[in-house]
Amino acid sequence: MSSATDPKHVVVIGAGITGLTAAYRLLKLASASDYSGPALTVTVVESSASVGGKIRTSPFAGIAAIDEGPDAYLARVPHAVALARELNLGGDITHPTAGHAAVMHKKLHPIPEGLMLGVPTGVMSLATSSLMSWHGKIRAALEPILPSSGDHKDAIGNLIRQRFGKEVQQLLVDPLVGSIYAADTNNFSLEMVPQLAALAGGRSVLLTARKQMANAPKSAAPIFETPRSGLATMTQSLNDAILALGGHIATSTTVQGITRANTRYLIEMSSDTASSITADSVIIASPARASAHLLNSLNADVATLLGSTEHASVVMATIKTVETDLPKLAGLSGYLVAKPDQDRVTAASFGSNKWSHWKPSDGSMILRVSLGRDGAPIQDLIHEWDDERIVRQVVDEVSRHTQTSLTPDSFRVTRWPEAFPQYRPGHMKHVESVESALTQHNPGIFVTGASWRGIGIPACVNQAEKTAQSTAEFLSHLQD
Ligand SMILES: Cc1cc2nc3c(=O)[nH]c(=O)nc-3n(C[C@H](O)[C@H](O)[C@H](O)COP(=O)(O)OP(=O)(O)OC[C@H]3O[C@@H](n4cnc5c(N)ncnc54)[C@H](O)[C@@H]3O)c2cc1C
Repeated sequence: MSSATDPKHVVVIGAGITGLTAAYRLLKLASASDYSGPALTVTVVESSASVGGKIRTSPFAGIAAIDEGPDAYLARVPHAVALARELNLGGDITHPTAGHAAVMHKKLHPIPEGLMLGVPTGVMSLATSSLMSWHGKIRAALEPILPSSGDHKDAIGNLIRQRFGKEVQQLLVDPLVGSIYAADTNNFSLEMVPQLAALAGGRSVLLTARKQMANAPKSAAPIFETPRSGLATMTQSLNDAILALGGHIATSTTVQGITRANTRYLIEMSSDTASSITADSVIIASPARASAHLLNSLNADVATLLGSTEHASVVMATIKTVETDLPKLAGLSGYLVAKPDQDRVTAASFGSNKWSHWKPSDGSMILRVSLGRDGAPIQDLIHEWDDERIVRQVVDEVSRHTQTSLTPDSFRVTRWPEAFPQYRPGHMKHVESVESALTQHNPGIFVTGASWRGIGIPACVNQAEKTAQSTAEFLSHLQD
């Protein structure tokens, strides 16, 4: 039994960017001079041998740090940008070099200007683009004079098709949004993509988008940023800051279950041996479906809800080409493959064009190519392919798309099974059901991270910081 004056123990499950940020923020809150809550101890438990989760950086082809998962985060929202500065990474931050992106539909087409996540803000740039047919362009141009939308059932694809027709959906919005979430936008919640959801309220989506673009502060600031030493620098810095603040991190340790222990929770873990610890509060920052079983004996209904969350798997192939000087790829930062044209490859990023610090000294090219997405019938099989087969497929498809003949000099394949949570239409209701069931029946247990309120790194940081605040408030009430 713990007494009201004992330090309160918080266990954080998962040392991805979300779990690490939540632990760090809690420790920072508790060390602030104006903090009046109980003393805290914080333990992060991570099943992998190292921290970072989807953030992983390693040397490749003679370059010290090439990311295997995310390679940058959005710099136009504050959360990750501010955290990086707080962790003293400001001097290491870099931005993508200017380059244009394309959509692959029969051939590569530059992405038209003036889009908001694929939504047109005018018709001129569409009219001059080679991407869409005349029929598609005329259909899109009718959008401002259409009556208000019918019910889009919280699916991005429904709204965009209703307003702009099939081509804007299939060739612009779906590739742009789909590539961020590995999603099929026909089955993805509009509400969970706030930039698009904000366009749906008025009569015309195009006119609302145009107004928002005109009213947005004009800024030449880059859209993305990243540490030159790789994104793992950020998670490693969080790791170090947590330890410096007196927190504990147990890697190679898997949480097996959470049960009640009087007013506290018992966390059962396995590493080399089985062990358990008690906690006053638990932050579950591990992916929803993988965490469902942890709650089986505590709250079977919530466990079922977590288990019903769907995720898409992807494979990331990183290749260094033998060829130097690839004029056909000059100035191209990458391309997205429209669904009608997709085989296995969904996107290719020309890393050496995108990042000045990813240029091999011999003038060859580093490419990062993504395979697999939600709803792709063959996606699971790709994970079973051996590396050589994956690379052959990538070289074949990318050579065809870019009309070059690529030869890999070296390659690295990273498999990301169940890496992208899929926010189905109505996802926010799902989140609220889980959160309210926990508040009611299992107070002090919080869920946070990519499965819940946003996939991108800034959204994960934002959720983690809010969860840390909620946890601190919960613990301060235990004192009363
Ligand atoms: C290939 C790829 C590219 C991406 N590109 C970008 C990008 O460019 N920009 C961007 O902003 N975002 C990008 N994302 C998304 C972003 O990286 C992730 O959404 C984010 O990193 C998820 O962080 P998280 O902490 O919520 O979850 P995770 O990183 O999944 O961390 C969860 C942790 O929980 C651990 N865990 C699971 N079960 C247990 C257990 N029982 N006990 C203990 N530990 C457990 C896992 O090992 C893992 O380390 C990308 C993702 C991928 C996969």
